[in-house]
Amino acid sequence: MLMNNCDNGVIPYILKFLIGEGNAGGWQRRVGYTADRQAFHRYAVVIVPASTICFPASAEAEDDLPVLPLAEIEGVPLLFGKPTVEWAGETLVVYADIVAGAFFLLSRYEEIRRRDVRDRYGRFPGRESLPCRAGFIHRPVVDEYGRLLRGWLRRAGVDVPEPEPGIRKIWLTHDVDVPFFCRTLRGVLRETVRGGGIGKAWKLLKGPLEADPLYTFPWLIEQDNRLRKAVGRHRCESLLFIKAGGRTKQDKPLYNLHSADIQSLLAISRTEQVGIGLHSSYSAGKDPTRIAAEKERLQKAAGREIRYNRHHYLALCEPEDYSWLERAGITDDFTMGYADLPGFRLGTCRPVRWINPATRFVSSLTLHPLTVMDVSLSDPRYMHLRYDEALAYCRQLFDRVALFAGELALLWHNDTVTGESSFSAPAPWHRKLYETLIQELTEQ
Ligand SMILES: [Zn+2]
Repeated sequence: MLMNNCDNGVIPYILKFLIGEGNAGGWQRRVGYTADRQAFHRYAVVIVPASTICFPASAEAEDDLPVLPLAEIEGVPLLFGKPTVEWAGETLVVYADIVAGAFFLLSRYEEIRRRDVRDRYGRFPGRESLPCRAGFIHRPVVDEYGRLLRGWLRRAGVDVPEPEPGIRKIWLTHDVDVPFFCRTLRGVLRETVRGGGIGKAWKLLKGPLEADPLYTFPWLIEQDNRLRKAVGRHRCESLLFIKAGGRTKQDKPLYNLHSADIQSLLAISRTEQVGIGLHSSYSAGKDPTRIAAEKERLQKAAGREIRYNRHHYLALCEPEDYSWLERAGITDDFTMGYADLPGFRLGTCRPVRWINPATRFVSSLTLHPLTVMDVSLSDPRYMHLRYDEALAYCRQLFDRVALFAGELALLWHNDTVTGESSFSAPAPWHRKLYETLIQELTEQ
């Protein structure tokens, strides 16, 4: 993967990203990315580009996908190049092409090279991904590359500090897919047809919103506030992602943004300082030109500017579709996790600019890696874990995020934390798990 032609600023950005925050020293300028031996002496560390294809990527290229099994360098999986490091005078020359490896993971390059690999919802499946097949989905390998690079710089006499471990930021997020069980006449009709009883359904319709079994937002906000109080609101934010359109059956139920119940939820979000983001519809995942209109609709109903997004079903299907979010005025996206496999889809646990894998353009849109979604842990189609296994898996991911001074983004839905098994299929333990994880994070 030859990255030193037509680079659109991507190489300086990747070097800076690898070295990490607090890069006041401009240390990336001490790193060369070149095979030109005559130029080696200008740098403290040189990374030699490994491969031969030119960008933009072409369908004919055959040597731009890493081949399994991968080599390792200092215990870290190496996607491109050789695990060889040698001195050329005062310069440390590294043949492990961690720049191409970081580009491959951060841009989701394999998803444009394997367009035919998608699941029934049009998503690239986590189980098909290189990080899963090579056994490192639970490791933020790009951040591990950063640690290697800082180590090589120090060996070459450049005094780069390691970032202080610890979780830098926590995003507690909730997608509002099915806000209520029975708050419309349509809901009463549905329950009557199902045999749930018209009396019970009518009571839910006419009773207080808080009595609806799926309306667990007050409980979720209470949990979130506990953590926000413990670690500080600047370090922990709560977000609701709200739908504002969609036509497919995956987008149902469509709720009315101007109804008293949704307006009540929006009012609570304002008083509790919970942020609002667009939950782009499944339809918009298929046709991203719809994103701007959905955002507009939500802005009108919420009476505030919307800058955050997450796609329903995490079904932002093609990497290039991010350009439509950017065009619609979205500044931050929280979609980047695999539904079937929690872990580090972008290879990092830190917020990163979206890099278009086709053009290699570094955009102004920031991607916040999704660490874990509730149903990914429990759903029989996904990980299908028991409570104790799910807790252990989450702890393992959280520890990695802390080790590399990253961000945590949790996604828990209102309809998985009812605590009633009839509403919590397939796992009744998400309420307990969320409560436990929040408690453990307050103690960090
Ligand atoms: Zn959703």
